[in-house]
Amino acid sequence: MIVRIAIGGMSHEGTTFSPLLTDLEDLVVTRGEDLLLDDNLRQLYRQHNVEIVPTLFARGTPSGIIKKSCYQVLKNEILQKIKLAKDLDGICLTLHGAMEVEEVGDGEGDLVSSIRAVVGEDVLISVSLDLHGNLTSKLVESVDLLTAYRTAPHRDAAETRCRAASLLIHAWQNNLKPKTAWIPVPILLPGEKVITELEPAASLYAMIEEVNQVPGILDTSIMVGFAWADVPHASASVVVIAENDRDMAYEQAERLAETFWNRREAFHFDVETYPVDESIDEALSFAQKPVFISDSGDNPTAGATGDIPIFLERLLAKNVKNAVVAAIADAKAVKTCVAEGLGSKMSLSIGGKLDTIHAEPLTITGRVTFLSDDSKTAVFQIDGEDSAHNGIEVILTADRRAFISPDQFKALNIDLFSRDIVVVKLGYLFPELRDIAPRSIMALSPGVSNEDIESLPFNRVRRPIYPLDRDFEWSPSRHALR
Ligand SMILES: [Zn+2]
Repeated sequence: MIVRIAIGGMSHEGTTFSPLLTDLEDLVVTRGEDLLLDDNLRQLYRQHNVEIVPTLFARGTPSGIIKKSCYQVLKNEILQKIKLAKDLDGICLTLHGAMEVEEVGDGEGDLVSSIRAVVGEDVLISVSLDLHGNLTSKLVESVDLLTAYRTAPHRDAAETRCRAASLLIHAWQNNLKPKTAWIPVPILLPGEKVITELEPAASLYAMIEEVNQVPGILDTSIMVGFAWADVPHASASVVVIAENDRDMAYEQAERLAETFWNRREAFHFDVETYPVDESIDEALSFAQKPVFISDSGDNPTAGATGDIPIFLERLLAKNVKNAVVAAIADAKAVKTCVAEGLGSKMSLSIGGKLDTIHAEPLTITGRVTFLSDDSKTAVFQIDGEDSAHNGIEVILTADRRAFISPDQFKALNIDLFSRDIVVVKLGYLFPELRDIAPRSIMALSPGVSNEDIESLPFNRVRRPIYPLDRDFEWSPSRHALR
């Protein structure tokens, strides 16, 4: 028998602390036959005689929340395609969990509840999520199945998409109407404190397999949540889905939620952390070079603008001679460098144009030492007092860009090993940089992705929540879900 499944989705992590709005030009939209079909998914669908109905898939790098008009256009197209597709048995969507939409709020909940309103109760809906997502009852009640990544840093995105599809096919073949237990756990943690390979997360995440072994349980997810969202529903949560017995699912969910809650104070950064100035002092005092410093508050991979020049300003103030700053997003400054040309000397105002809350433009003097062929990247070397040193180099990019591998520096003729300090706008170093770094420090710097959650201006998040509130009791309670 053929099963007809519509596929698609929207995956975006939007921080409410960013002054930027995400629009259509910031997203990559895929349509048609190639939509989200990697080889394993193709094989799975073929094996089970699934007829695919593609809608669209939109994704973008983390940034500010999505502009309402942008969201509406994409949502309407998905709804239209689902309306036109007659006789659907199921819908399988790739979502994130932290897609906040201007004036709409919870994007995933709005999208899935709108789809539910179109297809009615009989069509199974299954979604995959990033574990850095915040769940609402609107989302949880609108789907039959949801499953989240089990690794951070993420190594199981494709596997999770396959699992969402397998669960859907399994439920359809066995005529199941699954029952969900969902328990929000009042904890807000920056992602950098929850590495699933390390304790206390490792043994918590290992419980997923154990719960999944219980007869009658279909799937289990532990959501870390997304802390850089000042929304009422920002929090960690656990979800357990049973074939038909919700009480049984809740028994397991309560056990997981209690374990998570009891470990809340054990989550920690696994790298050295210092304030900005101290991180520079620490790096200078270390014999082996280069020392990598993550400017974690302005991390574009976590949605920040990537244009705060605080490290450059502090390196100059401390008279550091040999460092590279990767990078400052500043399209105007890059344009000026390109217009003036390679080797030209000038004063340049950089940064502080996107994030006007945490930064001000900084004026620097020096010369252009590299221009990329596509005119989107410039290297600017600051005039050094000591000619024996190369001075400080700052990489300027026309887009918001993170430097995650040595090859990116090599492409700009920058030899990392001849530098004392390499500043990157990241949280944790990505593996390729970590492998070559003699020492790595995470600076707790200001910005949209500030790792010091307690210093963020939360107004809307539901209280009490740890660590914004510390002196309160909590025990799991059951939600009456449909
Ligand atoms: Zn994530």
